[in-house]
Amino acid sequence: MEGPGRAVVAGGAAADVRPPREGEADTGPYQGYVYAYPHKTAYRPLEPRPPLAEVWADEPLHSLFLYLHIPFCEMRCGFCNLFTRTGAPEELVAAYLDALERQATAVRDALDGPRFAAAAVGGGTPTYLSAAELTRMFDLTERVMGTDLRAVPMSVETSPATATADRLAVLAERGTTRISIGVQSFVDAEARAAVRPQRRQEVEAALDRIRAAGFDTLNIDLIYGIDGQTGETWRHSLDAALVWKPEELYLYPLYVRPLTGLAKRARDWDDHRLTLYRQGRDHLLAAGYEQVSMRMFRLPGRQSPAEYTCQSDGMVGLGCGARSYTSGLHYSYEYAVAAGRVRAIVDEYVRLAAGEFAVANVGFRLDEEERRRRHLIQSLLQAGGLDPVLYRDRFGAGPEEHFGDDLERLADRGWLERDAPPPGGGDPRPGWLRLTAEGLAHSDAVGPALFSGRVRTLMASYEER
Ligand code: SF4
Repeated sequence: MEGPGRAVVAGGAAADVRPPREGEADTGPYQGYVYAYPHKTAYRPLEPRPPLAEVWADEPLHSLFLYLHIPFCEMRCGFCNLFTRTGAPEELVAAYLDALERQATAVRDALDGPRFAAAAVGGGTPTYLSAAELTRMFDLTERVMGTDLRAVPMSVETSPATATADRLAVLAERGTTRISIGVQSFVDAEARAAVRPQRRQEVEAALDRIRAAGFDTLNIDLIYGIDGQTGETWRHSLDAALVWKPEELYLYPLYVRPLTGLAKRARDWDDHRLTLYRQGRDHLLAAGYEQVSMRMFRLPGRQSPAEYTCQSDGMVGLGCGARSYTSGLHYSYEYAVAAGRVRAIVDEYVRLAAGEFAVANVGFRLDEEERRRRHLIQSLLQAGGLDPVLYRDRFGAGPEEHFGDDLERLADRGWLERDAPPPGGGDPRPGWLRLTAEGLAHSDAVGPALFSGRVRTLMASYEER
């Protein structure tokens, strides 16, 4: 499961990739999960393909984020639209790790002494790999990149069936500080309805093993909006998760509409999800959690050091579905969701020669305006909001000067507070921007409404091959 290590890194359990249209803030609260801006459907083939040495030449390399993508899962969840392949045979996994090593070598050779401040392994389900395969993955990454993963915060995603004691022992021994498990629901019938057939007993056994392995941070992903889910069953799942006192919880709205029950009419389903969201939020706040974003809740004082140290623009992604970010270019190898195309891309990736990894294939070039938008969107979608001083230091003027009309529209709807207090409370700060509680509830409408015209057009014309 792919609960994000932090908001900008990974895909979400129930992310939607439907391209937004102009004025979408008026068409419902669930337009799209903006876990990164721009979305990969705005990436296009780069012609000519730039060498990575050139792409990274002027970038600071002392505090990068390393992301490893393992695109394999045991089964395909009904709500998933991520880049993943089911049932990969052992030989394919071995070939994938070979390719990962070639890619890591090419990236290391292109970057002049990169240093990593944090790492994440996502998917897919990284623990689809056996304990021995995970060991190999860590070995090759550390050897090739010359980095000690035990020295930095590292997040790894897992699933109930694959969180076995031997794999967890490898993760713990290699320095994993945060483990994220996709549970979705503690009600067996709801897990089946979300096409993730798993028994509560298995889930609880996995959680026991995770706690026994002793990771600093446990994150549990839950989903609301599943067919047949009620306020009562939702509370039941929340309480069942709280038994483990997870340091973090992600609550995801389901994005694949069941065509039965309450969800038959889109509007009713929206209302139902909003009701469950508010219930979940209030329940976790009452249990002592703080809200970090629409989806993320955590125990106070558990902020990862990575959130302070990582530059938001420097991410090195390894693996065929991983993105990499520099300040001027976001790029990846390829992107697809449809099962047939994902298989073809993984098959192509494992056959690539070393030289093929030394260039960027598909991507999106960010100009100054897109960089500002990215900063605005990423900051506003966090409960803490946007610090005007940081923004001005980075972009030379205030956000109101660059995005006055956009901000006015959000304020008109009651979604934006201006001159808000900073995170943690205190006196209001001039210029501090923060979504109101209702704005945060509508994050999946706020984010897409702030996309640039160029990104909207690219996303709308994206065709799944
Ligand atoms: S199929 Fe895999 S990547 Fe997709 S939601 Fe399920 S566990 Fe996560």
